[in-house]
Amino acid sequence: MTLPKHAIHRLYEYRKAISSKPFTARGKNVVRCQSCLLAEKFCTCCQRRQVRSSLSFMLIMYDDEVLKPSNSGRLIADIIPDTHAFIWSRNEPNNKMLSIINDPKYQAFVIFPSEYAVKNQTVVSHVDKTILPNGRVPLFIVLDGSWREAIKMFRKSSYLHNLPLLSFTLEYTASYALRKGAREFQLGTAEVAALALSVAGEPANGRVLEAWFELFVESSLHGRSRNSRDSAIISELQNRFQDAHALSLGSN
Ligand SMILES: [Zn+2]
Repeated sequence: MTLPKHAIHRLYEYRKAISSKPFTARGKNVVRCQSCLLAEKFCTCCQRRQVRSSLSFMLIMYDDEVLKPSNSGRLIADIIPDTHAFIWSRNEPNNKMLSIINDPKYQAFVIFPSEYAVKNQTVVSHVDKTILPNGRVPLFIVLDGSWREAIKMFRKSSYLHNLPLLSFTLEYTASYALRKGAREFQLGTAEVAALALSVAGEPANGRVLEAWFELFVESSLHGRSRNSRDSAIISELQNRFQDAHALSLGSN
């Protein structure tokens, strides 16, 4: 099954077209699928499935982030149908991006740690109907880049400062880390979005995105080293993703 191109596929093509030199990623000799950016051998495109969701996402991506095969932000657009993506500009914020943020159909939230909130900025740790103005759709804004770049994007984008922040509690991220068995813990962009889905009432969709992320990570590792390790792990992760997807359709 091949799904139509999504916002990040289109942004990737645009960003690549305006590049003066080709992007060189680690493992640059690997032949990559131009859609999922994984090594062709580990392409996940035919596995991809979208969920039914009443939530929306917007990725604001730093410079050439969209060109990086390691970027997991694109996984959000793979799974969540209403996902928008733009390249951040310090001086000239994209007009279409601003009009979506201000569209009365949506209530935008910036997913960002509460300690960065500007004065009087609202901070929430979960999203439900009680905090949404009459039937608005939550639009989760994800700042996608390195941590340093994300902080810069937040600080230098005043249009983000009058929106509520969605900030996960320490207990919540710690319990996630524990479940993952991670020690040096930093959330990937797709994992941040998976947590957001969970605190906004769609935990089954959160698990789909999580499973998709795990398959992506494992497929990236295989693609980079190009060893012929048994692909049992990958097929196991493919099954887990398909199972999570089937469950999500049953629960929504
Ligand atoms: Zn692919």
